[in-house]
Order: sequence, then C-alpha cells, then structure tokens
Amino acid sequence: MSADEDPGPPSPRPRLRVAVVGAGPAGIYTAEALTRQQEVPVAVDLIDRLPTPFGLVRHGIAPDHPKMRAIRDTLHRALDHPAVRFVGNVEIGRDLSCRELHAAVDAVVYTYGAALDRQLGIPGEELPGSLAATALVAWYTGHPDADRATVEAALARARSVVVVGVGNVALDVARVLARTPAELESTDMPQHVLDALAAAPVEQVTVLGRRGPAQATFTTQELRELGELAEADVLVDPADLELDAAAEERVAADRVVARNLAVLREWAGHTARPGRATVTLRFFTRPVRLLGEDRVAGVEVERTVVDADGRASGTGETTVLPADLVVRSVGYRGGELPELPLDPRAGTVPHDLGRVLRGGAPSPGEYVAGWIKRGPTGVVGTNKHDARETVATLLADVAAGVVRPGGVSGDDDLVTTLRANGADPVLLEDWRAIDAAEVALGATRGRARTTLHEWESLLAAVREAAARAR
Ligand code: NAP
Repeated sequence: MSADEDPGPPSPRPRLRVAVVGAGPAGIYTAEALTRQQEVPVAVDLIDRLPTPFGLVRHGIAPDHPKMRAIRDTLHRALDHPAVRFVGNVEIGRDLSCRELHAAVDAVVYTYGAALDRQLGIPGEELPGSLAATALVAWYTGHPDADRATVEAALARARSVVVVGVGNVALDVARVLARTPAELESTDMPQHVLDALAAAPVEQVTVLGRRGPAQATFTTQELRELGELAEADVLVDPADLELDAAAEERVAADRVVARNLAVLREWAGHTARPGRATVTLRFFTRPVRLLGEDRVAGVEVERTVVDADGRASGTGETTVLPADLVVRSVGYRGGELPELPLDPRAGTVPHDLGRVLRGGAPSPGEYVAGWIKRGPTGVVGTNKHDARETVATLLADVAAGVVRPGGVSGDDDLVTTLRANGADPVLLEDWRAIDAAEVALGATRGRARTTLHEWESLLAAVREAAARAR
C-alpha cells in the first residue's frame, strides 16, 4: 500500500468464539462473564442437551420454592444478550464430538454439571422402592428423561419413607413428600406429578444423618420450612442435640450450624399430633442394609459416634426402621464426557483455575466451571464467582496468545454444522415458544406455569410456534 492510499476503516477485531457446554447456572454465568468483559469481543454459543435452559434451576430447585426458581428471570438476561446464542437440544458426544466442537470455536468451557447420583454401597440398594434423590427430583420437576414408571410405582405404596442424607436435597425431598396437595397446587409441577403425590399414602418420613446435627449440610431456611408444613409435624430426639466439645466448637465457629441447632432445639421433645404426618430427623444413624424380598420393606440402621475430627463410626447397635420407599440423597456426581478427562473419584474434571488439565498439563482452549469443576456444592450464586475465575483464566490465555480470537480456520457457523450433522438445535426463539406453551398450559388450571415434561411436547411447542410464524 502506498503512503497516499486510503487505509479504509480499521478492520474489526476478530471475535473470540466460545462454546459453553451446559446452560445451567454455571454456563449462564460463564456467558455473562464473557459478555461483561471489555478485553476482547466475543460470540458465545451456550449449548444444552435439553431444549430448555437453566439446568438445576429448572430441574433441581424444588417447585415449592418459587422465589428461588425466580432466579431464572435474572439468568435470562444473559441469554438475551446479543453476543450469546442459546443452542439447545444438542448433545456433545452424540450430535458433535468434543473434537469437532473444538475445531468450530476458539475455546470451549464445559459447565455440564454433576447429573449422576452417588451410591451408598450397601446391600439392598438396588431393590425396587429404593430411589436416588436425583431420580425423584428429576420426576417432580418434570425432567423429560425422568423414569416415571419406577418413581410412580415406588410412590404408590410409600407409607413410611426413609431419606438417607441431611443435605438440602434431602430436606427438599422430605418436604415435598410431606406436603398436602393444596400446598403443591400452585407449583409448576406437571399434573401427573401432582396427582401421584396426592395419591401417595405418606404418613412418616424419617431423614437419616450418619453424623450429628453439627455436621449436617442443610441450611437454616430449608430446615425451618420443615416446621411450617400444613399437615406434618417435625420430630427430633433431644438426645441427638446434646453436643460434645468438638460439636460445640463447630457451633461456635459457624453461624449456620448455630442457627440450625437453635431451630432443632425448638422442635426437640415435640410429639406428633393425631391425624398428621411426621417428619423425623434422626442423627447419628447410618443405613447398613435395605431389607425386603422383592422390594424395600425396611432399613437396618446402626447407631454411630462421631470423633473429634467429625468422622462417624458404627457402634454395632442396630435397629430396623420400616420403609416402603428409601430415597438416597447422598450427593451428586459428575459423569464422563467422551474425550474429556475425569477424575473418577472426585467426579470432576482436573483443572487449574478452570483450565482443563490433560495428563497434568494445561490444555489450551479447554475450560471448566460449576459442579464439573469444583464438585456438587454451593448454591446457585456460588457459580457466579466460579465462572468469573474460569473466564479470567481464559482471558489470560487470550492475552498470552495461547488462545487466538478468530483462530478457527473455517467460518462455518456451529448451528449450520450441527444441522448438517442431522441435529435439530433449539434456539432462543424456540425456547420462548416452549416457555409460552408452559405458561398457557398453566393458565388452563389457574397456575403461573406447568412444566412440559416430555421431549415430544417440548419439541411440539417449538414446531407449532414455527408453523404459526410461517
Ligand atoms: P450434600 O449437602 O453434600 O449432602 C449429602 C448428604 O449425604 C450429607 O448429609 C452426607 O453426610 C450424606 N452422605 C453422603 N454419603 C453418605 C453415606 N454413604 N451414608 C449416609 N449418608 C451419606 O448434598 P445435596 O443435599 O445433594 O446438595 C448438593 C448441593 O446443592 C449442596 O451444596 C446444597 O446446599 C445445594 N442445594 C441447595 C438447596 C437450597 O439452597 N435450597 C437445595 C438443594 C440443594 P456427610 O456429611 O456425613 O458426608
């Protein structure tokens, strides 16, 4: 170019093309962190296996917690950002391999969560009538992959329920099972879920903590709610609330533990009122085996003691609790994605500040955030900080030249590639059609929304809206 030639407008800075795999809170906060930074222009494809966004906000947070579920309105703002494209109904590993995905974008952030359940590892765990909390939660939140037949068969005879674990999921399950139909009527649960819960003969729910109340992982608001059920009384053995020196130390050091103990003490010594269901919190008790011939009939439990380090061990003192339904609520676990490393013990992808490690070495352009990065802990908001850390790592790699915006060779659009592969991506306007169909379905019964729970009905809502638009 000669000196007097017009250089024209400066060429636009190439955009950093990022695919985020998993449109739950971690994925959405990752997209948000990417769009909020000023260092490099971005284009984000937010991919999900389901045709719906929000992950555990939709299929984890209990439907009788509408205020918590309302966080989806805040999360939606990130989906609405012009630099973000929701690409639902696409499974990485099925519709597109990790390798193909990497070839199509400059960087990939995996935020696909921890969808599997942890096992108890005790005899009888696989008997009919023994459910993972993940299965029950998927069912009552209308997840399209929920195993309706198994859950509904177990619920139909569930007079005595034992829930194993004292985390917030265990309390969600206990509460939902102990609620009356009137208490659940206004939720977005699918109608068949409301009907099955109304028909379930639940009389007593026993929640088992293998350690003491000072080690329980539930939080106070969730605990307190158990005491506010319309037709169920919450029971605690006062002896379980007598603390040893180590437990006292925990109470002194942790405000949540102290508040939990205060709530539990209000209930200590309560007795069940006639004609009402009971929710019993039983600590220092661990399941040893599930009993029953062809289905669960009881749980053999063992009394435990907790040492100064907070470890539980059995005392040999056993007893049998009657149970028609056992719900194992002992935590989630991350699963493997083909071609992505996974630490099978932790159920997380090995990483350094969110940068995926392969054979211990950083793998440029591959990142993780959320539960698949740190394990299944924390509340929705915890993912915001977590996602920011990962995005800061990605931006550092861009600054260092390890990841180059516009570095991908082809300019094939990801959605075009997916369609060429035979996939049927659901985009933001399609999700809006599902959203509208759920609101319309809810309105037929005077509810704000009813969750569409089948793949077919979700995708039909998309097709019907597209047909109307033509
Ligand atoms: P969690 O808090 O880790 O609770 C798991 C429970 O299972 C613990 O009580 C644990 O006891 C017990 N457990 C583990 N293995 C066991 C075994 N072999 N035998 C008996 N008990 C066993 O997990 P979560 O309840 O699944 O919740 C996951 C995350 O989601 C948490 O961070 C939770 O706070 C969050 N969440 C929040 C809300 C809310 O904010 N409302 C609702 C739902 C979930 P030990 O402690 O003794 O291991």
